[in-house]
Amino acid sequence: MTVKLHTLYNTFRIQVQGRVQGVGFRPFIYRLASELKLNGQVENRNDGVLILLNCQNGELEKFVDQLRALAPPASFIDSIRTEQVGHIPFEGFKIVKSSSVSDTVTEVSPDIAVCPECLEDMKTQANRIDYPFVNCTNCGPRFTIIQDLPYDRAKTTMAPFEMCPECHKEYTDIFDRRFHAQPVACVRCGPSYRLHTAGGDITDPQEVVEHTARLLANKGIVAIKGLGGFFIACDPLCADTVTRLRQLKSREGKPFAVMFRDTETLRQFAHTSQQEEASLQSLKRPIVLLKDKGKLAPSVNMGFNTIGAMLPYMPLHHLLFQQSRLPAMVLTSGNISDEPIITDNDEAVKVLGRICDAVLTYNREIHNRTDDSVVRVIRKKERVFRRSRGYAPIPVKVSRQVEGILATGAELVNCFCIGKGNQALLSQHIGDLKNMETYNFFTESIDKYKQLFRFEPALIAADLHPNYLSSRYAEDHDLPVVHIQHHHAHIASCMAQHSLDEKVIGVAFDGTGYGDDGHIWGSEFMVCDFNDYQRITHFDYMQMPGGDKVTGEPWRMGVSLLYNTYGWDFHRPDPDFLKGIDKQQIDILCQAMDEGINTPLSSSAGRLFDGVSAMINLCTHSRFHAEAPMRLESVIDESITDTYPFHAGKTISFGPTIDNILYDMEERQPASVISARFHNTIVNAVEQTVRRISDEYGLHKVILSGGTFQNKYLGEKLETRLLKAGFEVYSHGSVPANDGGIALGQLMIAAAKRNKMNNQ
Ligand code: ZN
Ligand code: ZN
Ligand code: FE
Repeated sequence: MTVKLHTLYNTFRIQVQGRVQGVGFRPFIYRLASELKLNGQVENRNDGVLILLNCQNGELEKFVDQLRALAPPASFIDSIRTEQVGHIPFEGFKIVKSSSVSDTVTEVSPDIAVCPECLEDMKTQANRIDYPFVNCTNCGPRFTIIQDLPYDRAKTTMAPFEMCPECHKEYTDIFDRRFHAQPVACVRCGPSYRLHTAGGDITDPQEVVEHTARLLANKGIVAIKGLGGFFIACDPLCADTVTRLRQLKSREGKPFAVMFRDTETLRQFAHTSQQEEASLQSLKRPIVLLKDKGKLAPSVNMGFNTIGAMLPYMPLHHLLFQQSRLPAMVLTSGNISDEPIITDNDEAVKVLGRICDAVLTYNREIHNRTDDSVVRVIRKKERVFRRSRGYAPIPVKVSRQVEGILATGAELVNCFCIGKGNQALLSQHIGDLKNMETYNFFTESIDKYKQLFRFEPALIAADLHPNYLSSRYAEDHDLPVVHIQHHHAHIASCMAQHSLDEKVIGVAFDGTGYGDDGHIWGSEFMVCDFNDYQRITHFDYMQMPGGDKVTGEPWRMGVSLLYNTYGWDFHRPDPDFLKGIDKQQIDILCQAMDEGINTPLSSSAGRLFDGVSAMINLCTHSRFHAEAPMRLESVIDESITDTYPFHAGKTISFGPTIDNILYDMEERQPASVISARFHNTIVNAVEQTVRRISDEYGLHKVILSGGTFQNKYLGEKLETRLLKAGFEVYSHGSVPANDGGIALGQLMIAAAKRNKMNNQ
């Protein structure tokens, strides 16, 4: 009898890893098994989903094929491992209760934009008519509400809401779209909005939406609680209101992001490509930088030729657009100047209530703060600039064992990174650590990641800069610390994203990074792998008169470039950009450069771009990080193909370039032409240098990393040129090219160093 049973089926253990929790994976497996009439069970484990399945010949393959082909939209399968485990009798197929089994942790799903079925339910389902917290296994909040694993309602901020019988029925019905949808809710049992106004609070759901929409349509400014924090909304077509918001938020120059009603409306305001629309409409719903058509109030994007655009991702956004006639709304982070976005209701009412006409809160807590993510399409590929909602905490699978390593990142656009097995978990965008609230967000988030991902650091990787707060944090723990050169980490980060683990040519361009000669680096050509780097060449060192002051006052770099090319004669022609600046101050600056007082040396590409941007009077004083290079890029006349001369010796000198720019300035060439020629010159300089290094070292893989490569014109031109020259070119995509990606590179280099130490 037993023998006969064995010939009927074999039991297979199927282990699925990837983003398989919180995305309706178990019910999907259940339905698939039921359809194929296979017995067994499925269970969530900390390290993925485990299926036991009884199959006869050929059935396993069919099951696995369909598993791959029909997996839920928000899931992502990393690996499927099957193994025969004998013959276990099962009656039917069942979902087994979650159990914590190991320290390796499966991926936590990021938040997902509301799905079309749920939007339909908002029109048709009696208990969800216009209900703004509708969600299902394919959509809704995830990372922002999760407190612990395994992912179950009790371990999310939905725990205080007891399901009504109707929701419970859906939650427990395997054939329902909301089966085991942890945040399932309806008008009877779920969270609700409350609008705080000067005239009192409004709680009636319909009135809340109507009143908010009315305020927005009538020059009002409203703080609105989003998925990962508060945002501030207003009418982007009303210049007065946008200007008022700028003043209230103490945000002078930085463009505001805008949410559009739908893709069709968006097309009236911006140029879009197929790839850009794909990013806009993806489940992640990031802010996408698009070419502007100039129809919004000028103070939305402050003279830039791009707008940060996005589409509705919360049910409330859809309701607000239905209720108002607005084609779009400004939706900017709910914070004052550079602080992290506010997540707490009371704080929002207190702080944002002061500057907004009303504050819209809801009574579900945000556990993990996320900001809107920002991407740009460069050479038809999505490049993440700010990695947060919808993207974090998707892990990067890496080629090394990184378990137990904490990388603390850089300082200005900080993200940290933790190592689990061979997965790197890069945190959501944290921000500028010099701000105290942001620093607290940094330390709190590290603690949250430790708990959520069962992570215990044994080794800390930090930047070489001794004064970065992230480096000091590393030193404050009783653990071994490895310090990693900033630009080496940039290159390693891009290598990790592409699963490269070999010697490459690295080109790292950015604003600032501590060099191992004590100078500030930022235009580094290296030959490197995860173990080591060799700095081959760089742009000539420039003097930074006033040290850190140059970042806010690019005109100082303009003076430095001119003074170092011409000496005291440089301001004879009296360039326009110096007209508003005190002559005496300029003289003092030159004297300081003469005597080397407070004039650190920098090879930073960012500072070179700053100087040129200032010289042609685009940005003498910058009001936000990287404004000067962004303005320089913004004016480029793409029809200009010629270049300026430069000199490449041991290092790369742009003296001849500056000389020619000054000539063009005297000839009254427009900034658009000078900027194009300057960018083309940089492309030439990089190509020539990479060719030389390639010849000398026999390497053909080129890595481009650093914030400067967020420049679309430069990125596109350079990548195309290097590809044409026969190089394999790797640039950033899912991991930011800016300092937000640094921690991943630090993690990989630390893993290599640990490996080397262990083998000695
Ligand atoms: Zn849904
Ligand atoms: Zn309910
Ligand atoms: Fe950097």
